[in-house]
Amino acid sequence: MFELQKTDGSARRGTLRLRHGVVETPTFMPVGTAGTVKGLTPDEVRSAHSQIILANTYHLWLRPGLDLLVEAGGLHEFMQWHGPILTDSGGFQVFSLESRRKLDDDGVTFASHLDGSRHRFTPENVLAFQEAIGVDVAMQLDVCVKLPSTPETVEQSVRLSAEWAKRSAAARTRPEDTALFAIMQGGLDEGARERSAHAIIELDLPGYAIGGLSVGETREEMYRLARFSASLLPENKPRYLMGVGTVRDIVMAVECGIDMFDCVYPTRCGRNGRAMTRRGEFAIRNAAYVRDFTPIDPECDCAICTTYTRSYLAHLFRAGEMLGPRLLSYHNVYVLNSLMREARTAIEAGAWAQFRDSVLGEALA
Ligand SMILES: [Zn+2]
Repeated sequence: MFELQKTDGSARRGTLRLRHGVVETPTFMPVGTAGTVKGLTPDEVRSAHSQIILANTYHLWLRPGLDLLVEAGGLHEFMQWHGPILTDSGGFQVFSLESRRKLDDDGVTFASHLDGSRHRFTPENVLAFQEAIGVDVAMQLDVCVKLPSTPETVEQSVRLSAEWAKRSAAARTRPEDTALFAIMQGGLDEGARERSAHAIIELDLPGYAIGGLSVGETREEMYRLARFSASLLPENKPRYLMGVGTVRDIVMAVECGIDMFDCVYPTRCGRNGRAMTRRGEFAIRNAAYVRDFTPIDPECDCAICTTYTRSYLAHLFRAGEMLGPRLLSYHNVYVLNSLMREARTAIEAGAWAQFRDSVLGEALA
């Protein structure tokens, strides 16, 4: 399913074959939490060169719910995105609920943030949900911890996440359609990361994610742990770093040997008027852009940058027009996808280090 084609230093160039299509890695996955990449139609997501999108089990479970999604013919049919979809297990969302959830060894019970209704996630029912809605990649239910955490809490997260990975693997009913990825935990503790990696690698699953990073630690700690965690994972399986989505962080993560990333960042920035470019980010509403008739990013060849001016975008945002967030979200997603495409070409050519340094030299944000 995953073929590692070339490495250049620690950077990797691979191909991931999924039921709904082929994903060239390294790749960025835009987030469509509730079955929509916010503000963009599936055609736009595709034309911005996205190969795979992410959706979220927690949110889809609560609304519109399993029955409706099955009745609609699955998530692909419901939202009319026909490329690969990866669903997050919802562990991260449930554990963010804090006082509204209760963890035991078998699963986690929680109150919906929408209406307070009570629900229960187990490794088995979360996997069954993802298989039933027909996604290409399912993430195991894991136990997430906030940083900083006590060693006991980190250890519990490592132990339960590994047990739940094993239970998820045993519960699979259609492994040829939906690939199960396990999630490594361990906080900032290298020993705990090693124990976690050891336990999940034994299961020989189609892919592995590095969880519990990008949750408030410093960038240096994140890079250190991402590099260390990636080094523990098998060469021949895709590696997914959850929650990473700025130009600089993605380049650093590729440098650490990661293949897949996701983040709400580009679309959230798009809605908030924050333009992403290789050379840094800026707020399009600023007075400086009101009479700036150049493109958002003169080096970007996306449909927005080749058509509209900063002045027009600044006007849309200042006037509260909904087209502004749509156009800027498109551009931001496009920027990350082109970054990944050029990264793949650089790795293929054995020119990763030059590419990395040229981007990091310019990425001020
Ligand atoms: Zn653009």
